[in-house]
Amino acid sequence: MLFPTHLKPAEPNTATSLENERRKATFSPNEMETFVFGKKKLETREKLLKMMRAEPEIFGMENFYHLSRVEKLDHCFKQELRLVQLLREGTITKEDIMAFSGSFGPQGPYDLTRGMFIPTLEKQGTEEQKEVFLKPALDYRIIGCYAQTEMGHGSNIRSLETTATFIEETDEFEINSPTLTSTKWWIGSLGISSTHACVIAQLIVKGKNYGIFPFVVPIRSTVDHKPFPGVTVGDIGPKFGFNTMDNGFLSLDRVRIPRFNLLQRYITVSRNGAVTRPKNIDPRVTYGTMVEVRAHIASNMGEKLAKAVTVATRYTAVRRQFGEAGKPETPVLDYGIVQYRLIPLLAKAYAMLGMSVEFFEQYIKCTAAIASGDFSLLKEMHAVSCGLKRWSSETAVYGVDTCRHLCGGHGFSQFSGLNEFFTDIYPNIIWEGDNYVLAQQTTKYLVKAANGVSKGEEVEKNDTTNVMRQFANNGASNKGAYSWNNLSSKQVANNNSVLLDILAYRFVCMVNNMTERIHVKGESFEDLLVTSQQVCTAHSEYIVCLYFSRFINRLPSNSPLRPVLDLLFAVSALSFLTRNTGELYSLPESGQITSQLVTDLESEYLEKIKLLRPQAVPLVDAFGISDEQLNSSLGRYDGKVYEDYMQRALNEPLNRDGTGDEIRKRFFEKYIGPTLHGGKGGAGVSKL
Ligand SMILES: Cc1cc2nc3c(=O)[nH]c(=O)nc-3n(C[C@H](O)[C@H](O)[C@H](O)COP(=O)(O)OP(=O)(O)OC[C@H]3O[C@@H](n4cnc5c(N)ncnc54)[C@H](O)[C@@H]3O)c2cc1C
Repeated sequence: MLFPTHLKPAEPNTATSLENERRKATFSPNEMETFVFGKKKLETREKLLKMMRAEPEIFGMENFYHLSRVEKLDHCFKQELRLVQLLREGTITKEDIMAFSGSFGPQGPYDLTRGMFIPTLEKQGTEEQKEVFLKPALDYRIIGCYAQTEMGHGSNIRSLETTATFIEETDEFEINSPTLTSTKWWIGSLGISSTHACVIAQLIVKGKNYGIFPFVVPIRSTVDHKPFPGVTVGDIGPKFGFNTMDNGFLSLDRVRIPRFNLLQRYITVSRNGAVTRPKNIDPRVTYGTMVEVRAHIASNMGEKLAKAVTVATRYTAVRRQFGEAGKPETPVLDYGIVQYRLIPLLAKAYAMLGMSVEFFEQYIKCTAAIASGDFSLLKEMHAVSCGLKRWSSETAVYGVDTCRHLCGGHGFSQFSGLNEFFTDIYPNIIWEGDNYVLAQQTTKYLVKAANGVSKGEEVEKNDTTNVMRQFANNGASNKGAYSWNNLSSKQVANNNSVLLDILAYRFVCMVNNMTERIHVKGESFEDLLVTSQQVCTAHSEYIVCLYFSRFINRLPSNSPLRPVLDLLFAVSALSFLTRNTGELYSLPESGQITSQLVTDLESEYLEKIKLLRPQAVPLVDAFGISDEQLNSSLGRYDGKVYEDYMQRALNEPLNRDGTGDEIRKRFFEKYIGPTLHGGKGGAGVSKL
């Protein structure tokens, strides 16, 4: 089908409008991109883009929205194979493949072998086990998955039903799924890809249950890919999104594996069934894989939100509605309510990206310390990783949905690039710990630490406990002692470190209050589940701003990037503080966060959003997300929204010449024709 070529979009031209927006930049988007992502990441991006552009028949995504699930899987398997070939040729590295699957293509069916199987082997396998399992996994000679969740249990992993019983006579473990509900379910890369599963099962030796541990279980032959005896495995079927991943089920009927296949870095079962664990091991270390995955999620969410914000910003900058008579209509981005919905998300995308650089460095520090036997950082790391995974996934997932809504009707089209994208990232709020469950883990740590600090006990020093000490006793007798006292709301809003202090103070007061209710008034944690969510959010918002401010402080104070980054920081911090002003109103009076200050901070927040408006397009350009990654008519770099949109519609299979004609003819002959011309059950009405 052809569209009349002489028909052009009405003026003002969208491409020119976007160019005009770019002229407003007060900073260099290229410099910003290098600062936020670092040279190495940008080189990887360039390399991957070059690779994609060189082989459009494999990596091209233009037609992706029109494919069925099986066709999409075919497309993604083809990409996976090509990536592995390029890896073996030495053209790309395994880090390049990780970057590709995180930022370029849709979720690849081998993502879980990379994302969970391999990290578990790295963290929990012995050197000998790494030789046997990790080496071939890194070379894709075996493909694995992480099989923890069961049909009946996910969050409460202690109640998993799958058992691994030591059989001393044959020196084996017998892995068994005793019930329907013990069937492993949701397991990524399992449905049709994996040859091996890292199965999390209850370890039973001589009748004693030692709790859950990981076992490597071969499930399909690497030769013909047929399941081994006793293994029932398959794909769980269509989902809300994430359909290019083969999430699978697995039932094991007394499957025997060698004793060697229990990952033995943190537990050993000897030939005669003696169970030993290394001394001074924090039991939480076996959750190491989950902490790592959460760290990756937090950093990945920034890129996801940046992508959606790029689409919504470029589109709202060129989309025009209403305006003064006789003048071009107004870009919808000029409406205050559009700015109020979009600009804080832009700021939070920057906060997330900056925060995650700092967070990852903390994580690396923590794993290095663990490797040398020092577990002192693990508790806070675990609490922070739960909180940041929760905050970043919540912010990104609902932020993407807001971006979709910001694009109006066209946001609902797949060609916006935001729909399949939204459903694909959605499970981040569920997996690796449901967000509501994770909040409890963070808050339990916070309450314990706050209780220790209030009693003057030895509590490890870290970012969380440092501010607990700083604001001990809620500052009840410290009138006038806070950094924000005697400052105007403008001075507060213009000072990053004061904003940070208020965020810290709010979080400390909230956790102290909860601690008092539990440890003094005798309420139970379970009675305070709603409060625990609020405390976790307040803590995460403080940590996000703390890490983001440290990230900004890497720049010299006279850097031309600082003013706009400071503005992004202020919008993030003020959005957190004004999110629920009830929390500010309930702080102790001695803190002098008066209702006037709160109201004025709300006004400052709106002012700062306005100030960011002219920088919105340059700021999303600085994310450097290519058109291939966006795969969106609305978010195109060149602003040619309507031309691209029409072209994609013409490419819809129903509209295509040839195959489309045949489909339409068939529908007409079978249904539409008889509807228009058929009689009462008469000739031409097909029986359905
Ligand atoms: C797309 C996708 C991919 C996945 N991939 C994998 C994988 O590769 N490997 C794997 O092992 N697992 C995987 N999972 C499973 C995932 O990790 C779990 O679904 C997740 O941890 C949530 O557990 P659940 O399903 O048991 O939820 P449930 O715990 O049953 O949650 C149901 C509801 O109860 C609430 N709830 C539960 N416990 C509490 C509590 N103590 N207090 C208050 N509220 C509570 C939750 O907030 C939720 O609203 C995947 C899931 C999805 C959706």
